[in-house]
Amino acid sequence: MEKNVAGFNEFGLGSEVMKAVTSMGFEEPTPIQKKTIPVLLTGKDVIGQAQTGTGKTAAFGIPIVEMIDKNAQGVQAIILAPTRELAIQAAEEMNKLGKYKRLHALPVYGGTSIERQIKALKKGVHVVVGTPGRVLDHIERRTLSLKDVRIVVLDEADEMLDMGFVDDITKILKTTPAERQTLLFSATMPEGILNISKRYMRNPEKIRIATDALTAPKISQIFYEVRPSEKIEALARLIDSDDGGIFLVFCHTKKEADEVATNLKFRGYEADAMHGDFSQAQREAVLKKFRDSRIDVLVATDVAARGLDISNISHVVNFSIPQNPESYVHRIGRTGRAGREGVAITFVTPREERQLKLIKAVSKADIKRGKLPSKEQVMEARLESLKDRIQEVVDDKNFDRYLSLAERLIDGTDPREALAALLKFQLGGYESETPSRGREEVSLDDTGAGPGMARLFMTIGRGQDVKAGDIVNAISKKADIPRHDIKNVSIFDTFTFVEVPRDSAERVIEFMHQSIISGRKVAVAPAKPKGDMGRAGR
Ligand code: AMP
Repeated sequence: MEKNVAGFNEFGLGSEVMKAVTSMGFEEPTPIQKKTIPVLLTGKDVIGQAQTGTGKTAAFGIPIVEMIDKNAQGVQAIILAPTRELAIQAAEEMNKLGKYKRLHALPVYGGTSIERQIKALKKGVHVVVGTPGRVLDHIERRTLSLKDVRIVVLDEADEMLDMGFVDDITKILKTTPAERQTLLFSATMPEGILNISKRYMRNPEKIRIATDALTAPKISQIFYEVRPSEKIEALARLIDSDDGGIFLVFCHTKKEADEVATNLKFRGYEADAMHGDFSQAQREAVLKKFRDSRIDVLVATDVAARGLDISNISHVVNFSIPQNPESYVHRIGRTGRAGREGVAITFVTPREERQLKLIKAVSKADIKRGKLPSKEQVMEARLESLKDRIQEVVDDKNFDRYLSLAERLIDGTDPREALAALLKFQLGGYESETPSRGREEVSLDDTGAGPGMARLFMTIGRGQDVKAGDIVNAISKKADIPRHDIKNVSIFDTFTFVEVPRDSAERVIEFMHQSIISGRKVAVAPAKPKGDMGRAGR
């Protein structure tokens, strides 16, 4: 299978970092990465103007991982971030990038036990990602030394300044060696930032991505504020409230595209993924299905969607916010073609508000805040569209073969009740936690598991903070099977696969379906055979 990480090849990165980039599903560097990575690799200081959502963490993370000496002692890079949430996310990204080099990044932040952090620091870490207050606290307790630091990153520097961290940052910088490399990332460049850069940086290169005004097409544009773990549910509701819609859904990474498509398929949608790992033949096959309306949701990465020529897309959904305004304009231009009306939807997590602001400003787009339809509203919309469709069929009167069945049905049953039962059958998905459009049944003998085992699909994943141990414990306890019989737990962002003995599988489903794991109600069903599940199942 062709691997498309073309742009990354040009940086001359080591194989371990390249492997990490590939396994994270990145297809090509984002604009800020293209400009920043080569400069950082030369050892220069950099001021980057970029916000969350542009790929800035990897823009500094990739060169840091590349430059760290994994065998050297002491903390070699420190990243300062304004909030606990950002510190955790940046540390996670650093750990993913450093996975094959076996690097360890530790987040340290306030409001939580310092003892545990001290223990972790004692074990030795390569990178510390922390909020300034807590980092300084560790330095003062002598539980963290920055004397071996070679790279310092001030991430979201304007926010750190706004939060009054300037003194802490200054004190921290003073404990690092003078010959360090210093990087500063900030969405805006107020006076205070320029002062810091003058005092603490050496001849920094300023990098910003040209953001000339763009003209967004006239398409109705809406954004929804959602937490990452709510995105799938939000997407499902939007699809359901627009019967007959043709959706093009954009994701940042190949992995995400696979996961979203797999999750939608599980919920009974006619969905498929398309990304840079697809051969030309696979690409064409998926596109043909989309054109022929055999699938109505196509989940793609930017790279895969490039050059796509489909004229009937009713909705473009930015499942992940575009990494630059140009990409926003490019993505949403896929709808509203050939004089049709189009809708562009963008999911924005609380951290990504600034990126949305930039997109709005540069593309002069009028993106209005939307409120997700409630389950009742979705139900109402689906009833309305069903009513219209029923009326069409009634007007057409072409249903002779069903009349005798209808007569049998109402024989002895109130016709209104029979009709209501039929509607429930058709629309019932919205009464359960996981709406599904009449999901097709999969045999427990054909789930793609090893001999004597059955593979199950569960609607809970990393996004809900669930660990393999939680899944094994829950199944073992609720279905009363030994822990060692539960195998191959693979946790993805929004779902999990697990294998259980074939002869206990029905019991596991019976006890686990609609049960609560880690405070969340989950749906459990036989997994589809691997070849049928998109790549995420492999
Ligand atoms: P950030 O701006 O660092 O918050 O990154 C936003 C999201 O983009 C994160 O989920 C990253 O993992 C992802 N990302 C970073 N670089 C790339 C890339 N080259 N291709 C696709 N996704 C990326």
